[in-house]
Amino acid sequence: ATPTAVMVSTGVGASQGVLIKGGHALETTHKVNCIVFDKTGTLTIGRPVVVTTKLLKDNMSHQEFTSLVAAAEVNSEHPLGKAVVEYAKKCMENDDEAGPTWPEARDFESITGHGVKAVIRNREVLVGNKSLMLDHNVVIRTCAEEIMTEIEGLAQTGILVSIDREIYGILGVSDPLKPGAREAVSILRSMKIKCIIVTGDNKGTAKAIAKEVGIDSFVAEAKPEHKAQKVKELQANGNIVAMVGDGINDSPALVAADIGVAIGAGTDIAIEAADIVLMKSNLEDVITAIDLSRKTFFRIR
Ligand code: ADP
Ligand code: MG
Repeated sequence: ATPTAVMVSTGVGASQGVLIKGGHALETTHKVNCIVFDKTGTLTIGRPVVVTTKLLKDNMSHQEFTSLVAAAEVNSEHPLGKAVVEYAKKCMENDDEAGPTWPEARDFESITGHGVKAVIRNREVLVGNKSLMLDHNVVIRTCAEEIMTEIEGLAQTGILVSIDREIYGILGVSDPLKPGAREAVSILRSMKIKCIIVTGDNKGTAKAIAKEVGIDSFVAEAKPEHKAQKVKELQANGNIVAMVGDGINDSPALVAADIGVAIGAGTDIAIEAADIVLMKSNLEDVITAIDLSRKTFFRIR
């Protein structure tokens, strides 16, 4: 393709909200035969809602529990953290005219791909997945395991809450698929492009979402470096790999991939790490980018 053809195509892309960062990215895109998708915020809307709460201790009210969890999550940038705070706000709405207030959190720490940690009223509160708990030597008893399995089977993400290293409760968060996600995957598959999910989320939820969206291969409980590792593994097997993601946790994989595709509504770090940015956050635009690349590089020699 001539430099002019490349310029015209990137211009066409941009006018449709598909930002392709340069000729090399445009040229590589049509060679992609394998796409790795992040789950949360990429295949799903990324605006999760708390739909289940289970308290495991009877010495704490639901009210006190939700306010502690909200206090721990209030500084979190993660969609799950935001969902928890929204939920707590709803629970307290009628309580106080000044609006809900949480106890103060000290030593807030966000542990990427695992959850959050904070000290509230001199008690250590952990909110996150199983590995967060295990890394802090919190014992997950059978009854907690059972609730987690039940929640995950419903395609919800189970969030464990521990206080002073003891599990106090579990939240179930639901994050529906983006409209058009299933259709986009089905078109990609008809184009003979392999689709894979990598997610930091647990196996049960990953499996349920994979089934809903029509992808049969997934990697769950993947930390940012595991996502990148999966991309490299696919490349080592001779694939040209695109990674589609929205979060900080996806940026190593976006960089490792032959083509990193960031969802426009995602974090700045992901957008910076990517070769292509989908401004409308639509998965169909992955196909738009591939089509544009094919047209540019097959039309003119
Ligand atoms: P994904 O790959 O699906 O975008 P992440 O890697 O961001 O997910 O997070 C992985 C998992 O870590 C989440 O599914 C959740 O269980 C846990 N987690 C991460 N951040 C938080 C948070 N702020 N609050 C609760 N749990 C969290
Ligand atoms: Mg994500």
